[in-house]
Amino acid sequence: MTAGSTPSTSAQPMISMHDVDKHFGALHVLKNIQLEVPAGQVVIVIGPSGSGKSTLCRTINRLESIDSGRIAIDGIPLPEEGKGLAQLRADVGMVFQSFNLFAHRTILQNVTLGPTKVRKMNKTEADELAISLLKRVGIEAQKDKLPAQLSGGQQQRVAIARALAMKPKVMLFDEPTSALDPEMVNEVLDVMVSLAKEGMTMVVVTHEMGFARKAGDRVLFMADGEIVEDAPPEQFFTNPTSNRAKDFLSKIL
Ligand code: ADP
Ligand code: MG
Repeated sequence: MTAGSTPSTSAQPMISMHDVDKHFGALHVLKNIQLEVPAGQVVIVIGPSGSGKSTLCRTINRLESIDSGRIAIDGIPLPEEGKGLAQLRADVGMVFQSFNLFAHRTILQNVTLGPTKVRKMNKTEADELAISLLKRVGIEAQKDKLPAQLSGGQQQRVAIARALAMKPKVMLFDEPTSALDPEMVNEVLDVMVSLAKEGMTMVVVTHEMGFARKAGDRVLFMADGEIVEDAPPEQFFTNPTSNRAKDFLSKIL
């Protein structure tokens, strides 16, 4: 599988954020964010609850607007609204903690809906693509069931397949395993590791250190709306420089 419909060939970053600020009312939730993610890089975002990790992800596919600054995907500035937004959401797949599958659609329909509606793929093609993706995440046998008939780990793998069906350039994961029973965490992380190995550009909010070390190229540590540290996983976990990161790691390791 390819990582995107039109792979980037230049040195241009796949994701770029410059001077990005965002408030929720009086709360300054993103403070002067500067971030460039080259194509194929896997960025792990960690930090205390409320530090702005989800908001950072959500601004990248314009689920949240920003007050000021610039965000671009593969060199294209984020659209404000309209048709451009649907295209952007196809290019930037997102997987949430709560799987957000369409409850009244079968597993297969959950995966084919986007490609037929947004990518204008015909049904036969969309079915073939969906089945190959469901195979890939190990859920093909469940294709005619409804989401509620699947385990949490299975539903999350469907959510990943659904995002991949749009042939995204970037995949965002916001705590994809936090809502899962412990025995299901690895089946989801394994899919994400293989995606990372295939060269997908990924931003992953997670506290799964094993995954961060195995698949991550870079860790961003966020606190109070700022990127406080930006380092390779090994360096960050063994030798964090800020007191806030040291304090955070002492609580979770
Ligand atoms: P994290 O994902 O790191 O836990 P979030 O990005 O979800 O942090 O939230 C950062 C801060 O913004 C928190 O204080 C949160 O309560 C607040 N916040 C998030 N979403 C909204 C919203 N839609 N309206 C108002 N405040 C919000
Ligand atoms: Mg969050």
